[in-house]
Amino acid sequence: MAKIRFKNVRHAYPPPKGQEPVYALKEVNQVWEDEGAYALLGPSGCGKTTLLNTISGLLTPSEGQIYFDGQDVTGLPTSERQIAQVFQFPVVYDTMTVFDNLAFPLRNRGMDETVVKQRVDQIAEMLDLSANLHKRASGLTADGKQKISLGRGLVRSDVNAILFDEPLTVIDPHLKWQLRSKLKELHQQIGVTMIYVTHDQVEALTFAERVVVMYDGTVVQVGTPVELFNQPKHTFVGYFIGSPGMNVLPCKIDQGFPVFHNNILTTPSPVGSDLSGKLEVGIRPEFVEFADEGIPVVIEKVEDLGRYQVVTVLHESDVIKLIVNEDQTIPSESPMIQFNPEQTMVYCDGWFVEGADHE
Ligand code: ADP
Ligand code: MG
Repeated sequence: MAKIRFKNVRHAYPPPKGQEPVYALKEVNQVWEDEGAYALLGPSGCGKTTLLNTISGLLTPSEGQIYFDGQDVTGLPTSERQIAQVFQFPVVYDTMTVFDNLAFPLRNRGMDETVVKQRVDQIAEMLDLSANLHKRASGLTADGKQKISLGRGLVRSDVNAILFDEPLTVIDPHLKWQLRSKLKELHQQIGVTMIYVTHDQVEALTFAERVVVMYDGTVVQVGTPVELFNQPKHTFVGYFIGSPGMNVLPCKIDQGFPVFHNNILTTPSPVGSDLSGKLEVGIRPEFVEFADEGIPVVIEKVEDLGRYQVVTVLHESDVIKLIVNEDQTIPSESPMIQFNPEQTMVYCDGWFVEGADHE
């Protein structure tokens, strides 16, 4: 097992003839602590698979170094890195039995058959594959095959890390939930570093102790689910995490406070007046409420989601969403809203701006 460290890692795939290279990883400096359970969360195309492949060695980054416990492994082939990787779509030997598929990574390393049987039985039990061990893999459903893939990733006990690349995409929702819980349980038992890639925030937040949020080739924030919710360091994190995501609205700064179309807002502390760049204010729908005074709005839409309602309002042409309790009535005449000052944040070019008194 190992602590994995990225130092100034950048990667560009070979560009089409005559074109400039585009960096799929722009600059990644990131430490993955030994025995951590991480989710790597970000939209499709942001570089998640590229990042995983540089850890396993399927890909050598164009620039920068990767260290396992201080040893530079950037040039090492996959076979010398002791990484197990589970891909998005099942990789299964159809003609082999389920048992032989699961045993493959162990036999490949010349393990004793008694140990092989022991490990395979244990993993099969965990994944509910015991009854199928002597069937051919070709006879299994897509779910079954992906369980074999997961099993092959989990069967070795000598790995530095296990990487999961959106492994539950092809799995039915109920089973998905079960498998995710099992992975989490297994992580607690064996304590090996796990990095779980997903574009689904619910999956990320339930699996991981720490979520690494990626956007456009960079890591924008690493934090616990609560940190990502309460203090998004980037508007993308605010918008991507939460349902609906954070409201991000244009603003100016006047005497340290954000002004949204002539409405002066309050933040926990004033920000500097020397900010240059695109200025925005971020406020989660949970922290906006109807009030007797404040910003006048027009109600666009009310969605009843059971215990709460999502209300969409307009001020000028800007859309703002509020989450209000089911029992609360929505004002019908001249509605006005207020932002909770403690939760009102200023962003400059997408990045959170610390208050001026924060040192
Ligand atoms: P994700 O896994 O987050 O969806 P990827 O790491 O697969 O993202 O891709 C990141 C970027 O790199 C995308 O713009 C994608 O088109 C590009 N890319 C991925 N693989 C290749 C490749 N083999 N050749 C060229 N470009 C690639
Ligand atoms: Mg991918």
